[in-house]
Amino acid sequence: MKRVAILGSTGSIGTSALDVVRAHPEDLSVVLLVAGRQAKLLAEQVREFRPAIAGVAGRAALEELRAELGISAGAGAGSWESTKLICGEDEIAAAIKSCEAQVVLAAVVGMAGLSGVLAALEAGKDVALANKESLVVAGALVLEAAQRGSARIVPVDSEHSAIFQALQGVQPQDVASLILTASGGPFRDLPAAEFGAITPERALKHPQWTMGAKITIDSATMMNKALEVIEARWLFGVSSKQIEVVVHPQSIIHSMVRLVDQTVLAQLSVPDMKGPIAFALRHPQGRLANVMKPLDFTAVRELTFFPVDDARFPGISRAHQCLEGAKGACAVFNAANEVAVAQFLSHRISFPSIHVLIEESLQKFGDRGYESLGDLADLCGSVTSWARQRVSALAR
Ligand code: NDP
Repeated sequence: MKRVAILGSTGSIGTSALDVVRAHPEDLSVVLLVAGRQAKLLAEQVREFRPAIAGVAGRAALEELRAELGISAGAGAGSWESTKLICGEDEIAAAIKSCEAQVVLAAVVGMAGLSGVLAALEAGKDVALANKESLVVAGALVLEAAQRGSARIVPVDSEHSAIFQALQGVQPQDVASLILTASGGPFRDLPAAEFGAITPERALKHPQWTMGAKITIDSATMMNKALEVIEARWLFGVSSKQIEVVVHPQSIIHSMVRLVDQTVLAQLSVPDMKGPIAFALRHPQGRLANVMKPLDFTAVRELTFFPVDDARFPGISRAHQCLEGAKGACAVFNAANEVAVAQFLSHRISFPSIHVLIEESLQKFGDRGYESLGDLADLCGSVTSWARQRVSALAR
């Protein structure tokens, strides 16, 4: 039995993780659940899984959670039956450190996920990492925290999980490159001239995966693959030049490793995040049975591959440049993207303006470095407020 904490339990990854736990109660149990604002769904999860602690991002959500659980206003501070209720980043970080979890699933979206990742690693808890943004923003600091806590980071992102699995038993010196596959998103074949007409509603329809809104837009711009290039650099200790990207629309090969003798190792399965989630939660104890549907090769019939069109999807080559540039460049890249995606989702900027805003932010802040976590937070804060102001100029 492995004890699990789930950060972002109300999201796409979080709810899939709870499906895995529900299907394997003899192997996995939940001790901590953390959500942002969806108090009603969290309350249902608390009733079902009865974790020792449940937390939400802010006080308003805590009040809602208490109401959903039938705790009357003014009744003694936060618990429901044997579940302690908490709120705010500091209380959540303390709970991550003190709870009895052996593995923490980091599935909060965006930079907001960084503090939970650092808290878990520093406390010596293994992290099943879905929150790629934490590595993009603060890769070196995250690895240092893992080293201080002697904790493992096991990727949940399907591409990095595929590489992690393919690398089992491979000597580091035998690796020539990592090949990240990309579905290409819903606009893979759309001419650039039509990008201006893309609405958030259209971009939210991904051809292969059902995911949270932010990563779905990142897939449509292929910024998701750009962030994954940076994530791969930190997870696997390779150079930027050793990371290739190939478009593979069927999303059956989740990524590959090219060895020095030109052997290529690949991991295949149906596209279902429950596979990588279950693998990461259980690692290194081995696999759970019947997590995903079987892969029927006769139904798949063909696996195709294409190069990335850099002109329409410039994020990936930008990610490589950021990795080779100033220490803060990747954090700027990520912070600008988070603002741009939020503004696009609220219909304030056009789809092509996402890349424009990222580019302008990099021109303004891309040469910055940082020494500490505090400096990094300041840098991300400056990019965020500058990019938000810039949006009025880019607004339709
Ligand atoms: P969702 O938007 O579906 O879920 C995000 C989760 O984070 C929700 O539970 C949300 O809570 C919670 N959250 C947001 N802000 C805070 C906060 N400040 N404090 C605490 N919790 C917060 O995202 P996804 O599940 O799609 O993605 C999560 C992460 O996993 C992302 O980094 C993404 O890139 C990565 N990932 C996702 C994949 C997928 O298939 N979805 C695949 C690979 C990686 P609430 O909803 O209650 O506000």
